[in-house]
Amino acid sequence: MAQHIGIAGGGISGLATAVLLAREGFAVEVWDRHRGGGGRFAGGWQVLENGSGELDALDELRELGLAPDFAAIPATTALFLDGLGRRHEVSSATPFAYFVRRGGGEGSLDAWLRRLAAGAGVVLREGAAAPGDTEVVATGPHQADGVARELVFASDLPDTVAVLFDPTVTPTGYAYLFCIGGHATFGVAQVRRVGRLREAQKQAWRRFREALGEFAVRGEHDGGQFMNFCLPRHLRGSDGRWYVGEAAGVQDFLYGLGNRLALRSAGLVAAGVAGRWDQARFERTIRRPMRATVALRFAYERLGRRGFAGFCRLASRGDFRGLLLRLQRPGPFKDAVARVVMAAWRERGGCRHAPVCSWCRRRER
Ligand SMILES: Cc1cc2nc3c(=O)[nH]c(=O)nc-3n(C[C@H](O)[C@H](O)[C@H](O)COP(=O)(O)OP(=O)(O)OC[C@H]3O[C@@H](n4cnc5c(N)ncnc54)[C@H](O)[C@@H]3O)c2cc1C
Repeated sequence: MAQHIGIAGGGISGLATAVLLAREGFAVEVWDRHRGGGGRFAGGWQVLENGSGELDALDELRELGLAPDFAAIPATTALFLDGLGRRHEVSSATPFAYFVRRGGGEGSLDAWLRRLAAGAGVVLREGAAAPGDTEVVATGPHQADGVARELVFASDLPDTVAVLFDPTVTPTGYAYLFCIGGHATFGVAQVRRVGRLREAQKQAWRRFREALGEFAVRGEHDGGQFMNFCLPRHLRGSDGRWYVGEAAGVQDFLYGLGNRLALRSAGLVAAGVAGRWDQARFERTIRRPMRATVALRFAYERLGRRGFAGFCRLASRGDFRGLLLRLQRPGPFKDAVARVVMAAWRERGGCRHAPVCSWCRRRER
């Protein structure tokens, strides 16, 4: 009889793990406390980043065995707004990201994985909290290491990818407004001074209005979310359970992008459950790139308005994906900076992350 594996959480990391395990012959059961897919997301745009490694994000999914049959809109141009009131047109020869929809709607990342899961024979139990003894934990964030607020709406804006880098508006964070095919998502994200987030949201909205002109806002809904970051030492916790995606803290420390890492970690966890854990691959594809983003975050929080304006100028002068690849490539210098930063920022009071956490940042109290 097939070995039974229970997975808590039917977000992208839980479902991807489920699909890969079901294809290996396991009898997989997934619990999600939300119905309809997409859990905490309500149909907004997110990116599947494509600037952290040479391998294209969609090819990486193919290599994982997850043929990317969802709407993935390549991003090759963007408008960056800096804190000095300037606009910077950014472009790249190959996509620096793919826009994907989250939530259960047609064409979304979540709907795609639900389809794959159904096809692989995964049993999905929705609207119910998972039992406490599932072998795999994919329940997303446990604590607020960062906070984001988003507004999803219909608009008459032309297709727009705009990002605001102004540390006086979003200290330690950034704001974005994406509109594709009349469907828009506006958001702000911060990892520090999160008490100012509503004010940041108001100011960033004003800045986008000034830069983009008047546009319609219809059928809007908004919400706040928190985000988890920690550097896992392994994806199997000291409690013997496997942790995947944001439940394991895997997101980049720079922008809080976790989709690609969530899917990548699913491949590692599925192999681990099947008895083929690959520590070297985990170090190379998760830990080292994440550590490099700790060093980048340190630099990010030290850039003032002029520093960000310089970054935007640099981004507009060459190939933006090329710049991202250079910035995010791990190396001995970033490793060394990360080690010093990690020692200085280390949470010493104990954290509430999963028992895979080997390092997390001291929280503001
Ligand atoms: C506002 C916002 C914008 C973002 N934008 C981007 C972006 O543009 N690009 C990017 O790469 N990343 C982005 N991220 C991060 C990205 O969304 C996450 O890294 C990714 O969704 C993690 O996937 P996951 O499956 O691990 O967790 P989740 O997507 O959080 O899924 C967890 C699931 O577990 C379920 N669940 C929780 N607890 C239980 C329980 N006890 N029992 C049963 N089910 C449970 C939830 O309902 C949910 O469906 C963003 C995050 C936020 C908050």
